[in-house]
Amino acid sequence: MSRSFTYTSTPGRVVFGPGTLGTVGEEIAALGGKRALILSTPFQEPDAKALADRLGNLAAGVFAGAAMHTPVSVTDKAMAVYDETGADCVVSLGGGSTIGLGKAIAWRNDTPQIVVATTYAGSEVTDILGQTEEGRKTTVRNPKIRPETVIYDPELTLGLPVAMSVSSGLNAMAHAVEGLYAPDANPVTSLMAIEGLRALKFALPRIVSDPRDRDARADALYGSWLCGIVLGSVAMSLHHKLCHTLGGGFDMPHAETHAALIPHTAAYNAKAAAPQLARAAELFGGDLGGGLYDFAQSVGAPRALSDLGLKAGDLARAAEMAAQNPYANPQPVTRDGIQALLERAHAGQRPVTQ
Ligand code: NAD
Repeated sequence: MSRSFTYTSTPGRVVFGPGTLGTVGEEIAALGGKRALILSTPFQEPDAKALADRLGNLAAGVFAGAAMHTPVSVTDKAMAVYDETGADCVVSLGGGSTIGLGKAIAWRNDTPQIVVATTYAGSEVTDILGQTEEGRKTTVRNPKIRPETVIYDPELTLGLPVAMSVSSGLNAMAHAVEGLYAPDANPVTSLMAIEGLRALKFALPRIVSDPRDRDARADALYGSWLCGIVLGSVAMSLHHKLCHTLGGGFDMPHAETHAALIPHTAAYNAKAAAPQLARAAELFGGDLGGGLYDFAQSVGAPRALSDLGLKAGDLARAAEMAAQNPYANPQPVTRDGIQALLERAHAGQRPVTQ
């Protein structure tokens, strides 16, 4: 190892394993909390209420209004409930949308956060908050945004629908792929990226054949944790910028867009970042873009952006927007290059390695 690097470990406590939902009370107390506001989406409200019942006096109440892309108007409402109920910490029970709400509250009042993560998106271990106001998505990065404690209980993911599991798993894998060629990548984050890819590649096909396979669910959560750390530790490039453009500018669904695009963005960078991607390519049969595409197909992931609502007439504008602001990427980002990539992804075709 002759390369120089800087490695900053990400703080935070992780409690992993079946039944760990039962430790939420101890974890609240360990952070000095006495009254936790439990957060969820409307869909997971019954789970949030059951947790509040179980916590008794440690629960200040439930706010079940979390929504995709963390609208500021929802945070305003949750803040009012936080203050009215005299809460002194939050428990975010859910995926990236609920975790985003907990982060948005912490960004305003520095409340301690306990996350019970139930998807593979990875937000729970990052210091990144994306918020939307009047149709505009902005991103802030700050240490006080990162949750203090994360609980991964695979039992809570047994009911995550297969389609969502697969898209969310590929969303996590995308963090790992981009982390490998990040300008600030280091040997530790690269180890985590490869191990995360390996765990998810092993887990997702087993979840497809049996969504209640507890070992597969544990492997997937373990992999998504590692991929999330990569996302929170090093810079993301073309893939994440493109997904951000399509999510923010064209209202595309988050995890599914990541799933459909990752084979194409990996192929775009495959030659320019060949040494950094070598171990990942090996995992997928030698050709990372093509291998990821075949893997996505085998687990039934969305592959065509047209199926996710992107119109052919929007491709040129999306390419223009994505190529506007320069950022580090192994293969130079050009409008024509992105348009060609998007055209193949739109049609659901196998990617072409650049
Ligand atoms: P999500 O949180 O929006 O969840 C989608 C739906 O699935 C919701 O209705 C949710 O209640 C439900 N759900 C979640 N877990 C479930 C389970 N185990 N069983 C049944 N239903 C379940 O989806 P997501 O993909 O996790 O999060 C997407 C959001 O997270 C986006 O807004 C994205 O921008 C954000 N995100 C942020 C970061 C970050 O670091 N800031 C990282 C990744 C994603």
